Amino acid sequence: MIENSLERNGIQVVSGSGSFHDAKTIIVEKDGVATRFTGEKIVIATGTRPRRAPEFDFDGFTIFDSDTILEMKFQPRTLLVIGAGVIGVEYASIFARTGVRVTLYDARPDLLKSIDKEMVSALTKQFAKSGMKLRLGWTLHSVETVPGETGRAWRADATYTKDDEAITEKFDAVLVCQGRTGNFEKLGLDRVGLKPDDRGSLKVNKNYQTSVPNIYAVGDIIGARLLRHRRPSKGDWRHCMPLPVPTLVFQRRFRMAFIRSRRFPQSACKRKSLKLKVCSTSSVRPRTPNSLAAK
Ligand SMILES: Cc1cc2nc3c(=O)[nH]c(=O)nc-3n(C[C@H](O)[C@H](O)[C@H](O)COP(=O)(O)OP(=O)(O)OC[C@H]3O[C@@H](n4cnc5c(N)ncnc54)[C@H](O)[C@@H]3O)c2cc1C
Repeated sequence: MIENSLERNGIQVVSGSGSFHDAKTIIVEKDGVATRFTGEKIVIATGTRPRRAPEFDFDGFTIFDSDTILEMKFQPRTLLVIGAGVIGVEYASIFARTGVRVTLYDARPDLLKSIDKEMVSALTKQFAKSGMKLRLGWTLHSVETVPGETGRAWRADATYTKDDEAITEKFDAVLVCQGRTGNFEKLGLDRVGLKPDDRGSLKVNKNYQTSVPNIYAVGDIIGARLLRHRRPSKGDWRHCMPLPVPTLVFQRRFRMAFIRSRRFPQSACKRKSLKLKVCSTSSVRPRTPNSLAAK
């Protein structure tokens, strides 16, 4: 459907791995065949992949990242999720729902940095109530894969400390969610004089222009907030959206839009003479499929 729509709009779709030859030429390689494309202006939208810290052995059997977890071949009994950001919290919630005993770890004392504190506190209580173990504010020292005693061939032992306490826990699987980094290695950015920053993102100006004037970059590759609904649709989203866009974090009980405190829309509402209704978290009720169908 999407390909048809692109075709109808006169967009040629080419598949393969693209890289810069020079600032106006892209070489696309597929099955050993290289094809050259030229353009006055070029837009980079190659997205990101999970950041893989070297201390973890991502074997795809016991230790996973947020991409390889989708290819997991078994249902773990216990899962350690490392990183309580948006992706870690989403996956922890999904696995807990399927009956997996989930431990959610973060070195910070809170979940979901930069999201409204009241919402985070309500969510933290819900997680604890549902049986999820939260190891927040602990220091993780090591995650080692060792032969499993029963059931699985391998398991992971995680060792952490807090104050004077040190513990080692055993897990069937570990999911590491420690941010994402840009897909730029294959692009040959050096051939056009572009360099990603140390977070793996490309810097752009307010018109999404990189430091090479005819090369633009959009989407996750430019870092900041990595969210699909914040991607520019008709040019710069800030010029088309009337209000700040709420951040969505999908949860088992709360299907809610978290509004980040730093972007709290009160001032934006005032500026635009709009009324703002603030609901307390206790008024947010989980909606069952039946209640949705009844609407
Ligand atoms: C687990 C997870 C949960 C998420 N949840 C949400 C959510 O709840 N709400 C939300 O709004 N967003 C969510 N996101 C974020 C959302 O998926 C991204 O913001 C969005 O996909 C970014 O779009 P993009 O076009 O920049 O990159 P992508 O969607 O990653 O697309 C990049 C494309 O470029 C291709 N590519 C890379 N290098 C090359 C090359 N050299 N040549 C040719 N092609 C190349 C890739 O194969 C890929 O197809 C989530 C992301 C993850 C990982």
